[in-house]
Amino acid sequence: MSPTIAVLALQGAFIEHEQRLQSLGCTTIELRQAADLARPFDGLVLPGGESTVQAKLLHDLGMFEPLRERITEGLPTLGTCAGLILLADHFRTLPVTVRRNAYGRQLGSFHAEGRWEGGAGATKPSAATNAESRPGAHGASTPAPVPLTFIRAPRIEALGSDVEPLVTLNDAPVAVRHHNQIAAAFHPELDDDSRLYEALLAPLKRAY
Ligand code: GLN
Repeated sequence: MSPTIAVLALQGAFIEHEQRLQSLGCTTIELRQAADLARPFDGLVLPGGESTVQAKLLHDLGMFEPLRERITEGLPTLGTCAGLILLADHFRTLPVTVRRNAYGRQLGSFHAEGRWEGGAGATKPSAATNAESRPGAHGASTPAPVPLTFIRAPRIEALGSDVEPLVTLNDAPVAVRHHNQIAAAFHPELDDDSRLYEALLAPLKRAY
């Protein structure tokens, strides 16, 4: 048995998430209409795209409230870029302040390297042996940098209670965790680093 992850597939960059999840041994289903919510799934991915379009479609299709309830009840959820905005500003299940398109329209898209702040639980698979982190331990190596692709990205401006940074860029959080919710301003589905997915799947893998 492998966990089944539902990927919101109304608009935006959902295919790449499905491919990554499948490569990590998950079964994926697409959420396109309210009836899809009746299918069993263990986790949820909210992809990048346009958050205003996605929110409108969720309301129009009658999917908004049922999904918000599932997230509130503890469904493991990963939101990326527009997905982060959905969690913070629309579902309001994630207590962070975000500013849309804050990394600047001129910049549009850019690549950077961030710092993994999520502890040694999840290591970058391609660098598994030397990515173990034991902060403060003598001689311990630091985690591998996290490749970050930003596309008209929101900036995380303030963290509410019980929100911990998972990835930072110049000490500013660009991915965070709040209980069952993980959200990133960047697009992990576009780079060769699965640590955010592993963080999403960790509680599920224990159950299977
Ligand atoms: N700018 C988009 C929004 O505000 C997010 C961009 C993205 O998901 N790549 O929804």
